[in-house]
Amino acid sequence: MEVAMSAQRFDVVVVGASLAGCATAILMARAGAKVVLVERQAHIEAYKHLCTHFIQASALPVMRRMGLDKLIEQAGGVRNDAEFHTPYGWVGGSPGLQADGQPLHGYNIRRSRLDPMLRELAANTPGVSLMTGLSAKALIERDGHIVGIEASGPAGTVSLEARLVVAADGRNSEMARLAGVKPRTSPNQRHGVLQALRGVDLTRGTRSQMWMTGPEVAYVFPNEDGVSIVAWMAPKGSLNLPRTDLLEALKARIRSLPDAPRLLQAEPVGELLAVKDFPNQWRPPVVRGMALVGDAATSLDYLQGIGCGWALQSAEWLADTVVTDLLARRDLAPGLKAYARTHSNIIGAHRFFINDFAGRLWFNGMEKLLYAAGAKDADFARRMMRVGTRLESPLSLVSPGALLRAVWINLRHGKQAPHDTRLKLEGMAEQRRMAA
Ligand SMILES: Cc1cc2nc3c(=O)[nH]c(=O)nc-3n(C[C@H](O)[C@H](O)[C@H](O)COP(=O)(O)OP(=O)(O)OC[C@H]3O[C@@H](n4cnc5c(N)ncnc54)[C@H](O)[C@@H]3O)c2cc1C
Repeated sequence: MEVAMSAQRFDVVVVGASLAGCATAILMARAGAKVVLVERQAHIEAYKHLCTHFIQASALPVMRRMGLDKLIEQAGGVRNDAEFHTPYGWVGGSPGLQADGQPLHGYNIRRSRLDPMLRELAANTPGVSLMTGLSAKALIERDGHIVGIEASGPAGTVSLEARLVVAADGRNSEMARLAGVKPRTSPNQRHGVLQALRGVDLTRGTRSQMWMTGPEVAYVFPNEDGVSIVAWMAPKGSLNLPRTDLLEALKARIRSLPDAPRLLQAEPVGELLAVKDFPNQWRPPVVRGMALVGDAATSLDYLQGIGCGWALQSAEWLADTVVTDLLARRDLAPGLKAYARTHSNIIGAHRFFINDFAGRLWFNGMEKLLYAAGAKDADFARRMMRVGTRLESPLSLVSPGALLRAVWINLRHGKQAPHDTRLKLEGMAEQRRMAA
């Protein structure tokens, strides 16, 4: 790629062309901004390997707004909803209905498909200049504000300046490090392994499934092309096996689960991935005029499947709060403040509960109460799914009204879980629909 050596000016410089960065660039450019999108990977087909790519329903509106939902469907992406096996039975189903009466959903699609598709969408958006093979190496600051970057690649170094600089460079954000911002962290007591397998036969339909015992969590997420992602998170230390034994250990664990998927025909696709330590970490969403989106701002326990959706959504929150002032050449401070507020209003409470769950290995009393109620009552399960799919704040489940309802459901139904048969039938019906 040819890179000019002199400084170039844009409305927005975005560093990192993965989910958060591409979505930021697309939404800003569609509103009329001139955006440069800088990516250190040289190839447009590059993708993030370490991900189980369950995109939550909370991100459906922004995927639709960008036209990404159609591209995902064309590529065979699977509309997702989920069910959870708990010590009290199965809990789950769709988090609700859309305006047209169809179930709300997110998508499962492998990053090897998703990342290139979104990067291409960004590159083809008028107003976006995608520069690949360039790494941000230094910040340009003026009057205490971050106003640009210096980026280097095989073709040399380039200075890029803009009214707004956006760090979309992921969990280990170099942009944040250059700005002198250290992430805040909280520990994660589990580590995990994951493997893509072709030919996994789910015995309860095609819903994504998660088994939660408290200390351990396992999941199977059906994706496009008959490939499922199978993952197992266990207390730290328990997966310290030779790498060669991990796949068999993972399969054995999956086979031992209640209503276990059948793995007889299952063949690995790509490498087994192991995650040794993954503390939760987060940073302020705005630093000296620079906005942080996606994992650069918040990267929490992956077992919750939240980072992809929030990467896309945080891009939308940023674009919607600053782009009008950006184009009118007004002060960006109020818009950036609004972005930081939106970010913490939506993510803050989820972060509190996610950090808390990652830091211990057993359900607490409140989780036992809620899961037990969800296993017995379909409406209550739906309410839980709205929180799990990040459509609603977890505070809605810990209100006195919700907790009293959970107590009442548990008292009324005792140990029965009548809701399970309905869930299973729904799963089977979904499977028949997909097969047709
Ligand atoms: C094991 C695991 C499983 C997960 N499973 C799920 C899941 O099921 N569902 C879910 O929603 N989330 C999941 N996540 C989280 C999800 O992968 C991330 O939240 C998501 O990728 C964040 O997107 P992003 O665009 O912010 O950052 P990234 O996808 O990390 O992208 C950052 C981009 O910035 C580029 N970059 C970095 N530094 C520079 C630089 N200096 N200059 C230029 N470019 C740079 C990188 O090359 C990359 O393209 C999982 C994470 C892990 C670890």
